[in-house]
Amino acid sequence: MKLFAIFGDPVAHSRSPLMHNSVFKNLNYKACYTRVHLTDGSKLRETFFALGLSGANVTVPHKEAAYAACDEVRGFAKKVGVVNTIVNENGKLIGYNTDADGFMFAIKEFGAMKNILVLGAGGTAKALCARFIEDGIKVSVLNRSKERLVYFRELGCMCFTWDDLKSDKYDLVVNTTSAGLKDEELPAPLALIEEILENTSFVADAIYGKVTPFLKLSKDKNITCKDGAAMLLGQGVLANELLVKHALKTDAIKTYMSKSFEI
Ligand code: NDP
Repeated sequence: MKLFAIFGDPVAHSRSPLMHNSVFKNLNYKACYTRVHLTDGSKLRETFFALGLSGANVTVPHKEAAYAACDEVRGFAKKVGVVNTIVNENGKLIGYNTDADGFMFAIKEFGAMKNILVLGAGGTAKALCARFIEDGIKVSVLNRSKERLVYFRELGCMCFTWDDLKSDKYDLVVNTTSAGLKDEELPAPLALIEEILENTSFVADAIYGKVTPFLKLSKDKNITCKDGAAMLLGQGVLANELLVKHALKTDAIKTYMSKSFEI
């Protein structure tokens, strides 16, 4: 029996155990997926081995610590320095990132994007912005503090703090901050959010399982919105494939993972 886990702080809200266990149970894959509340990201590696894990997912705020915890980082994760999936390969920790592909899957129905505003400058924002830039999309980033914007400026994004935003016409505004996750805060001051929402066609929030104040305001303005559930499903299917080392069929993983959303 293999053991997998998700590390995070907070982590109680995470639907990942339900999603992955639904796949394992229905496809008779001998594994169990649990959650680990980890406050100190630097303890990720030793905790992973102490629990005898075969693989793990990593959520807020440890995705950059997860990158540092790995022996080898592959694919897109290497480019962005952010890891959300870790696989134990013969005692070595191999890191991957499935967030960006999961998000692209989620916004497919919005159509082609030319200009996106990203709220927040953490691990999730890094992955999404790198993917958007790769796809030739114009990207602006708005963050509460300026320290984390350096990476985004070097990536080729327009960068702003709450004091100096120059609004554009956006196809999509994405909230990748944790504002609204365990509080009722907006990702930026109300006046700024109002201005942004007047200038966008679509809205997406990475947070799932609740209507954040940002999503509520967007819906009140009749803007077509998506919460983080579709992104969660997309990144989850890709993560499961990596965790089971491609032993299960993608369509079957997607079917049983989607079913867990009904619970
Ligand atoms: P990080 O901790 O790496 O980054 C958090 C960001 O949020 C920082 O830019 C921080 O700004 C900003 N922030 C935090 N609190 C506030 C606030 N009250 N007001 C304004 N800005 C704030 O987090 P992650 O990037 O790992 O995750 C971000 C969110 O995305 C989480 O809610 C997570 O649950 C969600 N997520 C969802 C996924 C899904 O599949 N649906 C996948 C991945 C993430 P500053 O730099 O100023 O501190």
